[in-house]
Amino acid sequence: MRSFTYERARTPADAARIVASHPGARFLAGGTNLLDLMKLEIETPTHLVDVQDLKLDRIEPTDVGGLRIGAFVSNTALASDERVRRDYGVLSRAIVAGASGQLRNKATTAGNLLQRTRCPYFYDTNQPCNKRKPGSGCAAIGGYSRQLAVIGSSDACIATYPGDMAVAMRVLDATVETVRADGKTRSIPIGSFHTLPGNTPERENVLDHGELVTAVTLPAPVGGTHVYRKVRDRASYAFALVSVAAIVQRDGNGRAAFGGVAHRPWRVEAAEAAMPSGAVEMSKAVFAGARPTDDNAFKIPLATRTLAAVISEVKS
Ligand SMILES: Cc1cc2nc3c(=O)[nH]c(=O)nc-3n(C[C@H](O)[C@H](O)[C@H](O)COP(=O)(O)OP(=O)(O)OC[C@H]3O[C@@H](n4cnc5c(N)ncnc54)[C@H](O)[C@@H]3O)c2cc1C
Ligand code: SF4
Repeated sequence: MRSFTYERARTPADAARIVASHPGARFLAGGTNLLDLMKLEIETPTHLVDVQDLKLDRIEPTDVGGLRIGAFVSNTALASDERVRRDYGVLSRAIVAGASGQLRNKATTAGNLLQRTRCPYFYDTNQPCNKRKPGSGCAAIGGYSRQLAVIGSSDACIATYPGDMAVAMRVLDATVETVRADGKTRSIPIGSFHTLPGNTPERENVLDHGELVTAVTLPAPVGGTHVYRKVRDRASYAFALVSVAAIVQRDGNGRAAFGGVAHRPWRVEAAEAAMPSGAVEMSKAVFAGARPTDDNAFKIPLATRTLAAVISEVKS
């Protein structure tokens, strides 16, 4: 690991100002992703700004009947919150489908949203990777791509976004709140927060350097049955090959977002009108324009069957 300096910021604006003024600075939350990447020298920050003293660890009701989740709320606290379990069950279920109890105790809301891809070539510093080193090439294209994206990819990168929590936040229409070094705040709909790789796969979200995530807000509950179904190679402690976060209403209408298939949680709102007609119809619209590889073409029928299982679970 390369050497670095460390400090704890006292306020969100302070944290944003310090990171913005050091090109090599990064925020440190639970450290469960960042420190692993630093040990492998995939990330080499020169200064870490710890956000644990910023008092961003509360879950509070909003004026419009929703919830505001502080950026530093742990995954364990969020998944077990009574209001989340009652009104946003898909979020609670997605979080407990991820990682392990110990990791969830450390992992934070913002850190989880901002975790980096698990593309095996991104982690292997002997391989070319446009995300790790822009312009170096992509070993996954033409390489082993079983885990990687089937839709929304580019000629520069076919990585997937690996997280579970964000897939549920996508189906819940969450909003990410941030503060910048100049004190200005932004509210970013989760659907615009993570980016597709295009020609700049090193960029994974719309945050500027030094822009601090302060909270994620959830709109008022929409009712319905909340399901998160994750398909993976092992029963636990593995990232999704495919996952489905769904909210289905009594009349069969609903929403669904997919994990493990693209560079961001994948939701096609226009396809949701087809949900009452069944998974095959809806899936056709969700995956229109998909460009799978020979290794990962199985993900499209797998996602369709996972959606079918979700719909039938709700009906039973
Ligand atoms: C073995 C293993 C298995 C795992 N399995 C799963 C799984 O199945 N599903 C799943 O979803 N996840 C899984 N994870 C990932 C885990 O959920 C993430 O590592 C964790 O959520 C990251 O949160 P953190 O607080 O530790 O982030 P950190 O590692 O501290 O930070 C991650 C990134 O977010 C940035 N950051 C942190 N806070 C802020 C902020 N407030 N504003 C702006 N930037 C910020 C950091 O600078 C860094 O770039 C696994 C991890 C491991 C190690
Ligand atoms: S798919 Fe993306 S992350 Fe993986 S090697 Fe290619 S450029 Fe790197």
